Amino acid sequence: MIPYGSHSIDAGDINAVVDVLENAFLTQGQQVPLFEKNLCDYTGARYAVAVNSGTSALHLACIAAGIGKGDRVWTSPNSFAASANCALYCGADVDFVDIDPRTRNMSVALLAEKLVSANANGTLPKAIVVVHFAGSSCDMEAIHRLTSCYGIIIIEDAAHGLGGKDKSGHPIGACKFSDMAVMSFHPVKSMTTAEGGAVLTNNESLANNVRLHASHGITKNSKDFSEQEQGNAWFYSQQSLGFNYRLSDLHAALGNSQIKRLDSFIAARRAKAEVYHQALASLPIELPERDANSAWHLYTIELTMHDRKKVFDELRDRGVGVNVHYIPIYHHVYYKNLGYSADDYPNCERYYNNTLTLPLYSELTADMQNSVIDILHEVLK
Ligand SMILES: *Cc1c(COP(=O)(O)O)cnc(C)c1O
Repeated sequence: MIPYGSHSIDAGDINAVVDVLENAFLTQGQQVPLFEKNLCDYTGARYAVAVNSGTSALHLACIAAGIGKGDRVWTSPNSFAASANCALYCGADVDFVDIDPRTRNMSVALLAEKLVSANANGTLPKAIVVVHFAGSSCDMEAIHRLTSCYGIIIIEDAAHGLGGKDKSGHPIGACKFSDMAVMSFHPVKSMTTAEGGAVLTNNESLANNVRLHASHGITKNSKDFSEQEQGNAWFYSQQSLGFNYRLSDLHAALGNSQIKRLDSFIAARRAKAEVYHQALASLPIELPERDANSAWHLYTIELTMHDRKKVFDELRDRGVGVNVHYIPIYHHVYYKNLGYSADDYPNCERYYNNTLTLPLYSELTADMQNSVIDILHEVLK
């Protein structure tokens, strides 16, 4: 089966991890700070805090944003559940803004409408989590313009976006129009640390808050101690209720090696997306937008004249590991039980009912991609 996504590990990646195994520190050594510096250098963000998953990073971003009980957080329904779960972890209520049928990202027009009515009803969100679906940036400048007058915190779920650029050409993760951006380094993403994630920001106090909560809420910085504890070399102080969300040096070493290859991963994804655009143009399907700035995490098509389940099953039977991104978050039983209704998100419903994700990753060979293309042509005939 040709998978829909996969990582790429070379000898340099393996040696980088083995080197750490032969060194003194498996965790809390030099690799994590170096990885954070590499993330800042790559994206242009001032601060990066590396953690053990994208989900942890989203949770920490919500904590740093001060999200709590009684607050509202809005996100896109066309995403992995973690984009919404992070707000529920903090006791907040989640609401969804329907997608733009063309970009499959949160609709800016619907966001504008929803803000007007929420402002009138006193139900504005404290934060919104925007998702750069498939690696193609949301219109961050427009979202910032719409939300800044209300003081709404913008968190980018950039799990698909590392290596891509926003509409104005800033690297995704630079946080030009947001407060924080969250990355994931799961093996299917742009680059991997096996499991891993990061919060990027230009705001020092947000960065400090994220770092504090990633490590139990404990500080070893003596300036945070009471006067009588100053000078006690054994002392550390838990200031807040945090978690152990730290990334290990083994994982960070893999990240430090992978980030050197990130541009080549993105270039390969982009080239293969272009091959699909040309080879599939004659089929009665909708292709994704040709966004030259996209990180091309996913290549998703929409069937317009065929039954999705039939096509999905036939492609899987013939060895093409197609997938569906995403089951709308409000479809999950947990969310249904919270009272969400599919009727409120007609664009997301239409997209979900017709979409298929084709294999796309840097290690997908030309032969494999050609066989995906040939089989898809035959199945849709
Ligand atoms: C992968 C992903 C996450 C979660 O990242 P993990 O590192 O797997 O925890 C969150 N949001 C989106 C959109 C993702 O694709």
